[in-house]
Order: sequence, then structure tokens, then C-alpha cells
Amino acid sequence: MVPRLELEDLTCVFDDVAVVDGVSLGIHPGQVTCLLGPSGCGKSTTLRMAAGVERTQAGSVRIDGRVVADATTHLPPEARGIGMMFQDFALFPHLTAAENVGFGLGRKDAGRTARVQDLLERVGLAEMADKYPHQLSGGEQQRVALARALAPRPSVMLMDEPFSGLDNRLRDEIRDQTLEILKEEGAAVLLVTHEPDEAMRMADQIALMRKGRIVQVGAPYNIYNAPVDAEAAGFFSDIN
Ligand code: ADP
Ligand code: MG
Repeated sequence: MVPRLELEDLTCVFDDVAVVDGVSLGIHPGQVTCLLGPSGCGKSTTLRMAAGVERTQAGSVRIDGRVVADATTHLPPEARGIGMMFQDFALFPHLTAAENVGFGLGRKDAGRTARVQDLLERVGLAEMADKYPHQLSGGEQQRVALARALAPRPSVMLMDEPFSGLDNRLRDEIRDQTLEILKEEGAAVLLVTHEPDEAMRMADQIALMRKGRIVQVGAPYNIYNAPVDAEAAGFFSDIN
């Protein structure tokens, strides 16, 4: 089976430094892959190339078997069939929760209202449909952002540290709820995080990244129990 999202030999050089250096990774529908590694190792840059907000300098990105980026191709994010949740990808402040969720759906989309309502219910915010972002808590805003990203039924979801702004008490709950909805929707998910416990909790597959390269790929249990080297073992050692 062809992976739904396929990164092949992705490379990005800034100021003569390869911050992403030959990254290859395949993600299947319904699978959550966590790109895990310390700050500065190139995770966000990798995700940005997959999304198309950063140009691919070498290598390629395929979605559902179609090349969306390589040396001669660059489809913009909106033409890639992806949903995004980035740290700096805020809700539209002048739109209600429901309008935010419906933003990516066509005005003439007959199923629009039903889809928006269904997603708001599933993230537990049916009563908040007419509230504006500033009237919602951080956790509620994140849940609206998730619903908005999923509304057009993207085949690929790209998420960059989506829970990092939440306090600890809320974070586990929202992680679990997010995972449940992602599984129901069945997208191929690439989730960037620097927190091993988040990757252990959410991933079907972990890709461990260091200095621009992927050093190990596997199921969370296998990576945790058989880290590739001492540095990888150390990275996992503070999980409780
Ligand atoms: P991570 O998400 O793993 O923390 P990033 O992908 O954000 O890492 O960054 C990887 C490296 O690339 C960092 O050293 C960062 O400073 C550098 N970098 C990222 N974006 C740019 C840019 N636009 N110009 C120059 N350097 C950049
Ligand atoms: Mg980052």
C-alpha cells in the first residue's frame, strides 16, 4: 500500500547548515506518526515543507501518491489536501467558533452546517458555537482549531506542538480527545513534539529526530525499550 503522506529525502539548508538532512518517512491513513526530538533538531522545518509553507530544496513530498513538492513542483498548502494545527496558526478573531470551523468549507457545501455542528459536538463545544475566540479558554480554542482543521476532511493532518500552550491539567485530557477524533476521521497524522511522553501516548509510530536526521523509526514500545543509542535512551529517561 502506498503511504498517504510520503516524505522522501527531504532537505533544507539555511546558511550552509542542513537543518533537515535527508528525511524520509511514510504515513498511512489512520496512523499517527510523532516526529520527536529536541528543540532545534529540524522538526518544524520538516513539517513546514510537508505543508508547503516552506519550499522543498531537495527531495520530495507525495500525498496520496501525487507529487506536491520536489525540485520542480511546489503546490501551495491549500492545494495539498492537508489540515494544519500550528502553534502560531490562531483562530480568526472576528469569526465565531462555528464560523471558524466552517471556514474551509464551501459556502455552497450542502453538508456544511451539519458538519460544523457534528464536529463542535464531538469536541464538546456545541454550546459555544456562537462564541468568539476571546470568549473561549485556551483549551476550548485548541478544540475549535482541531475541528476547523478536520472540517474539510483532509487526507493528511500536520500538527506542530499543538498542546504546548495548555496547562498540564488540561493537556492529557485534550490529547486523549484529539487522538480519539483523529482516529475517527482516519487522516494520516504527522505530529511534531519535543515531549517523549506525548509521543508515547499518541503515536502509532515514532520517528526520532536529531540534528536534521531521523535516527530511529518504530512503534513507541520498541523505541522506548530498545533505543538506538545512549543519547536516545537519555532522551526517554525522564518519562515517569
Ligand atoms: P525544531 O522544530 O525541531 O525546534 P526547527 O525546524 O524550528 O527546529 O529549526 C531547526 C533549525 O533551523 C534551528 O537551528 C533554527 O534556528 C533553524 N531555522 C529554522 N527556520 C529558519 C530560517 N527561516 N532561517 C534560518 N534558520 C532557520
Ligand atoms: Mg518546532
